[in-house]
Amino acid sequence: MNLKNKNILITAGPTREAIDPVRFLSNKSSGKMAFALAAECLKHDAKVLLICGPVSIVAPDGVQIINVISANEMLDAVLENISACDVFIAAAAVSDYRVKETFVEKIKKDQNEMTLNFIKNPDILQQVSQLEQRLFCVGFAAETENLEENAQEKLHKKKLDLIVANSVSHNKVFDKNKTQAILFGKNGERIALAEMSKNELAEKIITWIASSLRSSQRR
Ligand code: C5P
Repeated sequence: MNLKNKNILITAGPTREAIDPVRFLSNKSSGKMAFALAAECLKHDAKVLLICGPVSIVAPDGVQIINVISANEMLDAVLENISACDVFIAAAAVSDYRVKETFVEKIKKDQNEMTLNFIKNPDILQQVSQLEQRLFCVGFAAETENLEENAQEKLHKKKLDLIVANSVSHNKVFDKNKTQAILFGKNGERIALAEMSKNELAEKIITWIASSLRSSQRR
């Protein structure tokens, strides 16, 4: 199934939220799932823009990439580029919080205890799905408990077309080559997949997107 002339924006990797000039808050995301999705989009002749947090893997040839560090930078880059896009895939593990006030100088270890205040980061996917522009929006739900309920709640709350639910308990998924997912569509579709490589899962997700776009064009 072809995605020729389709522009696909994918967020990738973790974000890093600075605490002081040398320390940050982040997570275990490797970017592997997003890069597998980008490679699969290219196979379907789509144009891909990756907006990527700090990762140590190399993007597939043929993908345009914008590197960012923090959630706010990722949001700005997404909003600057979204108007040209048909599909938005939020595969980044965006840090939910950032430090309220970043320290200008390196924090000294002269106290036995210290407290940091955090504030919520913007929800990039939710902002995109609320735009007037009609886009096909895909989210990921990485959960350690109540996988199906939490994923379906996010699907509805963030007004998504598709959500990919992964259980991340027992150190699964993050930074691994294999994954196991359940796909939920906005019309109540549910496909529970066996364990497979991230490349194989990317193929299933992109096939779903391509066939949804084709059937909405027919209507
Ligand atoms: O973190 P949460 O479980 O809400 O993530 C669900 C989806 O929302 C993911 O696809 C993630 O990329 C996206 N998200 C985002 N901006 C955030 C938090 C999550 O785009 N600040």
